[in-house]
Amino acid sequence: MYSRRNFLKSTGIMAGSAVVGSSLFGACEGASKKTGIQSSKMQLSFKPYNLQLKHAFTIASNSRTTTPVMLVEIKYEEFIGYGEASMPPYLGESHATAASFLSKIDLEAYSSPFLIEDILEYIDALDVGNYAAKAAVDIALHDLLGKLVGQPLFRLWGLDPLKTPDTSFTIGIDTPEVVKKKVEEANPYNILKVKLGRGNDQEIITTIRSVTDKPLCVDVNQGWKDKHQALELIHWLKEQGVVFVEQPMSKAIDAIEDMAWLTQNSPLPIVADEALQTVHDVLPLKGVYSGINIKLMKCGGLRAARKMITLARAMDMKVMIGCMTATSCAVSAAAQLSPLVDWADLDGNLLISNDVFEGMKVIDGKVTLSEYPGIGINK
Ligand code: MG
Repeated sequence: MYSRRNFLKSTGIMAGSAVVGSSLFGACEGASKKTGIQSSKMQLSFKPYNLQLKHAFTIASNSRTTTPVMLVEIKYEEFIGYGEASMPPYLGESHATAASFLSKIDLEAYSSPFLIEDILEYIDALDVGNYAAKAAVDIALHDLLGKLVGQPLFRLWGLDPLKTPDTSFTIGIDTPEVVKKKVEEANPYNILKVKLGRGNDQEIITTIRSVTDKPLCVDVNQGWKDKHQALELIHWLKEQGVVFVEQPMSKAIDAIEDMAWLTQNSPLPIVADEALQTVHDVLPLKGVYSGINIKLMKCGGLRAARKMITLARAMDMKVMIGCMTATSCAVSAAAQLSPLVDWADLDGNLLISNDVFEGMKVIDGKVTLSEYPGIGINK
């Protein structure tokens, strides 16, 4: 068993003494679950929080103005790792389910966060589902590890921070006037993600093209029903400067043949989003989609996401990393992986008005990683 000091001694890595962190929870902490009784053990606590969206967010299936999240902290010695579960309602998790799951966690058996593989196996086996809650713990542990060795995760993983992609900025479905306003707000971004699938797709694209000629990607959220009409629309979208299409048709099993036909005939890459959850879902998508959209809240965190990237690359598939609306905590965690991907959609923290962290920045449209250790955040 490793203590932090033994680890630092054996690797020669110095931990920054200024990265201790302080609890987000303050007076609320007494109401949170705590495990571990010795100062050298890990203590997990959590707090429900509601994100306020700057604009009502509308996709093909629903519309909303808030997103519930659960903020998680794991304290070890003088260090605090931060994590977050973002739980848009359509994914089936909530403050109640996350609190229930997190309350089951007992880290007493683990002497150090450096046992992260064993700990995350244990967390995964605690219950089925609960991927956002699992991701919160995964993110907090990764943040803790980075802080213990004084390095951001991208550096521990050997990734070049200059290889981060541009991030897209999402334009939700709305009236032409509001769409134009959103496009103007998206000024620093080099690629815009447009939500389609409500029957006025060409009107939306034409509206956007009246104010910008930036590259676009489109997310249909399963909104198209007929593969021939879908293919015709994709050809038109290509002429309009669209670079890829996300989840054009149903993820349903009985729609797989149509989906595979569309991908094989499409002049643009087709990326799966709703069609996959976690690492076990990637293999069957070969031939059905050209790429996958990985989200930490769907797959259970950074550990699962790294496995999915490796698997997709082994199958010559494209990789995109996305996010939910979330604070800079979950978004910065995902950004640590972004040098490995083709496309990033990491704007979730920019869509809210009550962030509690500072972290990954978008500079000239590009994901720009901070030098903060761990997941790269400060608060
Ligand atoms: Mg999507």
